[in-house]
Amino acid sequence: MIYFDNAATTKPCEEAVSAAVKCMSECYGNPSSLHKMGIGSEKVIDSAKKTMLSRLNKEGEIYFTSGATESNNLAIFGTARALKRRGNRIVTTAIEHPSVSEPMKKLEEEGFEVVYLKPCECENFEDALINAVDEKTILLCFMAVNNETGFIIDSKKVYNSVKKRFPSCVVHLDGVQGFCKVPLFGDTISLSAHKIHGIKGVGALYKAKGVRLLPNVYGGGQQGGIRSGTEPVDLICAFEAAVKAYPQNITKFSELRHTLIQHLEQLEGIILNSKNSVDNIVNFSVQGVRSEIMLHFLEEKGIFVSSGSACSRGKVSPALSALGVSDKDADSAVRVSFSLSNTEEEIGRLAIALAEGIKRFRR
Ligand code: PMP
Repeated sequence: MIYFDNAATTKPCEEAVSAAVKCMSECYGNPSSLHKMGIGSEKVIDSAKKTMLSRLNKEGEIYFTSGATESNNLAIFGTARALKRRGNRIVTTAIEHPSVSEPMKKLEEEGFEVVYLKPCECENFEDALINAVDEKTILLCFMAVNNETGFIIDSKKVYNSVKKRFPSCVVHLDGVQGFCKVPLFGDTISLSAHKIHGIKGVGALYKAKGVRLLPNVYGGGQQGGIRSGTEPVDLICAFEAAVKAYPQNITKFSELRHTLIQHLEQLEGIILNSKNSVDNIVNFSVQGVRSEIMLHFLEEKGIFVSSGSACSRGKVSPALSALGVSDKDADSAVRVSFSLSNTEEEIGRLAIALAEGIKRFRR
């Protein structure tokens, strides 16, 4: 089995699994309980928070959530509603994950004005984002790395420039695909454990000091009232273990990418959709072969890839089109996303299978 769908999710690493098991059997107290067992669990959470902050190289707060979908919802609704007296203008992009684009639609229904920028219409996308923010803008929201093509937006450049001109505009960054891979800058930043070999069902929201955020979930007032609900201590502990196990300064992805692109260049009718992108995501169109046909053909060979994005479930992705991919090419897009355990040999086997698939199905 060759797993090339790591942008959809990753295999939990051994460190994460054993941390979760140990925590479940030894440290199952409710972190809100006042006794020793509760305090033990609270310590686990505090340690995980410190690890997240140190990996992000930031000071501030960490709130644990059920995943980045919830983190994005919390940041977007939580800041927009907290700031609505000051203004109603929001700037975002047309390439966001649905956990950002759907909340944006809801905010439009509530009377917010949302401006969507498309990379394909901008010469320099960072400059376009910076210039779109004005004194009326309360929130700028964008992703560090796009999940479909790996397209990178330099969050450091955008954040620093926007905050310099408009310090009161909150910058929310969807850091899911960028975490542990590129530097992340924002007043609030969403993270997800299962993209970095943690376990599904836990994520985090970083918040810089002084940023106002209203809760989306009301209840027992855990996590400073920002996110009520008993914290999943075991998943949080596994998230911390995954972050600690994830290496810094990875060079392997660029080697794997280089090899894959060399192979793709040998095949005819391949269009590379990943431009200005991270090394671990390579999106390309196999002209004349529909994505799903290729996906299932590769699956028969034991190779797992994605058709564009696992989140768009067969629908033509608005993000691909905003990144300049034609509908026809989007219909034959294949996304290969690496983990550190993938090998050059696996890429060779993918290339052979692609060539076979092209021969059999190209129309
Ligand atoms: N944002 C991006 C860019 C993603 O790729 C994903 C996961 N596909 C999410 C948000 C949602 O994360 P989660 O699965 O943790 O809810």
